[in-house]
Amino acid sequence: MGSAAEVAAWCEAVPLLLRLAAAQGRTTEAEELVRDLRDGADAIGRLAELGRQLGVPSIGARAVTGVPGVSPGVPVDGLYVCPGGRCTRDWVRAPGVPTPECHVFGVPLEPARPLRHPR
Ligand SMILES: [Zn+2]
Repeated sequence: MGSAAEVAAWCEAVPLLLRLAAAQGRTTEAEELVRDLRDGADAIGRLAELGRQLGVPSIGARAVTGVPGVSPGVPVDGLYVCPGGRCTRDWVRAPGVPTPECHVFGVPLEPARPLRHPR
């Protein structure tokens, strides 16, 4: 499979991909690739190619993800991350905003657990 940063872009962009695929009659193809990605297969290249054909705007590592001012991997209060640590997507809790889903795995993002010893 691709790098965690590459997966992160799709973690967020899968709903858009599926909408565009449905509009163009390619739902089965798109769902297969998402399933491959979830299973750990190397689907990034094929997803990127399908995305290009369907008109998904520039999906690439960290293209549409990331919290400004937060370094990847550094836990901060209220930081949520992709469950299973399969991708580098992160999100900071905001009042009144529902927790986003990891669309590769179909589950909500989880509160980050400290991964490093405090300095
Ligand atoms: Zn994810």
